[in-house]
Amino acid sequence: MGVGIWSMHFIGMLAYRLPVPVTYDVGTTLVSLLIAIVVTGFALWMASLRQMGIRRLLFAGTIMGVGVASMHYTGMLAMRMTIRYDHFLFVSSILIAVIASTAALKIVFNLRSDVVSADVPKKFLSALIMGAAISGMHYTGMAAARLPAEMSGSPLPNASDAWLAVTIGLTSFLILSIALILSLVDSHLATRTAGLVGSLKAANEKLHYMALHDSLTHLPNRILLEDRVEQAIRHARSSSSEFSLLFLDVDRFKPINDAMGHHVGDKVLQEVATRLLDVAGPEDTVARIGGDEFIVVLPARKELGKVHETARKIRDAVERKIEVGEQSLSVSASIGISLFPHDGTSFRALLGNADSAMYHAKSKGPGQIQFYSGEMNDSTAMRIEMENDLRRGIESEEFVLYYQPKVTLATGEVESVEALVRWNHPVKGVLPPQSFIPRAEETGLIIPLGRWIIGQACREAVIWQRAGFPRLRVAVNLSALQFINQDLMKEILSALESSGLSPECLELEITETLLMQDPEGAMRTLSGIRKKGVHIAIDDFGTGYSSFSYLKKFPLDRLKIDRSFITDICDNPNDAAIVRTIIALGHNLNLKVVAEGVENREQLDMLKAMECDAYQGFLNSRPLPPAELADRLKMDQGTIDFPGNR
Ligand code: C2E
Ligand code: CA
Ligand code: CA
Repeated sequence: MGVGIWSMHFIGMLAYRLPVPVTYDVGTTLVSLLIAIVVTGFALWMASLRQMGIRRLLFAGTIMGVGVASMHYTGMLAMRMTIRYDHFLFVSSILIAVIASTAALKIVFNLRSDVVSADVPKKFLSALIMGAAISGMHYTGMAAARLPAEMSGSPLPNASDAWLAVTIGLTSFLILSIALILSLVDSHLATRTAGLVGSLKAANEKLHYMALHDSLTHLPNRILLEDRVEQAIRHARSSSSEFSLLFLDVDRFKPINDAMGHHVGDKVLQEVATRLLDVAGPEDTVARIGGDEFIVVLPARKELGKVHETARKIRDAVERKIEVGEQSLSVSASIGISLFPHDGTSFRALLGNADSAMYHAKSKGPGQIQFYSGEMNDSTAMRIEMENDLRRGIESEEFVLYYQPKVTLATGEVESVEALVRWNHPVKGVLPPQSFIPRAEETGLIIPLGRWIIGQACREAVIWQRAGFPRLRVAVNLSALQFINQDLMKEILSALESSGLSPECLELEITETLLMQDPEGAMRTLSGIRKKGVHIAIDDFGTGYSSFSYLKKFPLDRLKIDRSFITDICDNPNDAAIVRTIIALGHNLNLKVVAEGVENREQLDMLKAMECDAYQGFLNSRPLPPAELADRLKMDQGTIDFPGNR
């Protein structure tokens, strides 16, 4: 800028034609250049300051204006001649310089704040004013000059002056261009840097958020939870108050997730998260710390009754039906509760104990709420061990199927056998299904186990068929989870195909409760299975709630009356009435009716009188290992007359 101002002045001087050749004193000329540079440097520095009050602006403008004027008059001094000045114009020239410089600086200062989006027209305006200031000053200054009288006359052209002007002009143009380019590069870099800093900041914030939140539900994760709990601990300590931590686990979540796909599982978790937030108060923390595990911290509520009430509200909220697409799912929640400081004074202790309490709740069935108590701690390890054991057992095929005959009442013939699984445990011996099926359902391991059971039942049925019982049917029990598993159909078909069993010789037992949970969905699944020719029986009939309209529509073959009605059938007229009704109902629906758990002759006679179609029970046979079943079947074939007369 200094060079630019000075060039204006100097070329202006050269344009001023004088009748005599003019020479310049080099030293003084250079001083004038130096003044220009120093003064503009100072003025620009002032304009770059953080703040510029009116006083500072006036000061900078004055310095700049006076500086430009000094540059000019020093330059004039370099001309080797005596010049007088008109006082009025002399002062005016300085004032013009000061006023215009001030205006230009003001504009520059206002523009300066924002490198990126500075307004280009305003920049030009500033440059224009500055240019006007300099040349206005210059020509007023020249007008003020009174040259010696003998010099007046027609001016002479001066060739060397023209060259000098061109050289100076080019040089200053070059310098200005370089300065401009440098400043452009600089501002470009500044813009880029600002952009990078901006996106880095955004990325950092996102990372920070992600590090502390669960991406699926956007709830705080374990890390943030720990922080919040520690805060609650500090607060409770300082105010010697208490707070509680609720550990919530969604019952039967893993099965749903495995059987219906992760997108369904994700939806369920998101819905649960939303419901927890709805129930939780503004001061409560809701976090997700793992698959289907949520934590709610209740900082304020003291009394156990209140805590329990909140837990109940939370559980009830989770238990409302969840709609995912066309499906409506129901899950429940097991909740364990630990209290500060009673059950622990650190995050880890509180969390661990609430976890133990939750598992205790779970072992009592779905939808339970449990406060922590000291004895609960060992069970957690046992549970995990059980799961691993089960997994290993499935891999090394430690399971066997026992078979219990279903006998046609009219003929005494074995019409089919029900496969009942046993675990031939290497250490614990033969384990009954109740001791591991619930755990297998909870962990989803029932899917691979169930697949093995269907395959094995088909394989063994084929063996008996070839051994002389060509029409023997095998019945397999299905768990809820297997039933909603999308791959069920495929698995059944592949079991039939690889064993060579014909579909009519396979029967599936499905509980009433399971069918009525989602009748529409069950209808689709059943129809698919039935179309292939596979038989379907309703198991444990009478223990749950059935809708008659659905029963009518389901494609079924058999009703199995639950054992609990048979036990007392001879002594309890109510039970007898129920059994009679179920048999009538079954026949009305064109179903065969099978009675379970027949243990004595009286029961059998009664059922016969009620025209029940078939029965199953210890009276005829206990569930038998395959080898014994074969013997048993052969024996029956010889003495077909009457069952149970041994
Ligand atoms: P369930 O389907 O109702 O099976 C009948 C159960 O009643 C069997 O017990 C059988 O041994 C027992 N039972 C048969 N006759 C009598 C009798 O006269 N008196 C008495 N008191 N009991 C009798 P088990 O084998 O212990 O099976 C229990 C339950 O375990 C089964 O009930 C079924 O729900 C489940 N289960 C068994 N095997 C499988 C399987 O392969 N897959 C699945 N998902 N569940 C199975
Ligand atoms: Ca059964
Ligand atoms: Ca049953």
